[in-house]
Amino acid sequence: MTPLRLFMETMDQSPVAISITDQRANIIYVNQAFTRITGYSPEEAIGRNESMLSDKITPKRVYQDLWATLGQKKVWQGVLVNRHKTQGKYLADLTIAPMLDERGELTHYIGIHRDVTEFY
Ligand code: FAD
Repeated sequence: MTPLRLFMETMDQSPVAISITDQRANIIYVNQAFTRITGYSPEEAIGRNESMLSDKITPKRVYQDLWATLGQKKVWQGVLVNRHKTQGKYLADLTIAPMLDERGELTHYIGIHRDVTEFY
């Protein structure tokens, strides 16, 4: 197996939802666990904003803290109320990491989340 193939298999077989976005949180990649956890296939998710997952019950200040942290090129971690495509709300334990180029400029974000509803 080539290193690229191994990398793609690792992403696809990861048990946590992984997405890659542009600088405005528009989705450009999702793995299989993302589809399983959110209900959105790659075709449905790519090109849309991560805000499609937001259940508007999450207080706005959580998102403001998220974006203020990302604006400093730091990793944000927290729990949000997300909405599955068809199955209603779930609690998402989410980590977002900025991806930087060799000059330290932001290029993308990587989002990693799992459904932690059963733990609350
Ligand atoms: P928005 O209008 O998007 O924003 C709420 C507030 O956040 C605004 O008032 C503003 O202060 C701030 N804000 C929004 N966009 C920006 C920006 N580009 N730069 C600076 N400040 C900004 N949200 C979820 O609910 N669930 C997820 O699973 C999730 N995963 C994400 C994964 C990644 C990789 C990234 C980058 C973001 C993710 N988000 C997620 C955040 C998402 O993009 C939205 O900001 C959020 O869902 C709120 O959406 P909204 O439409 O309610 O409000």
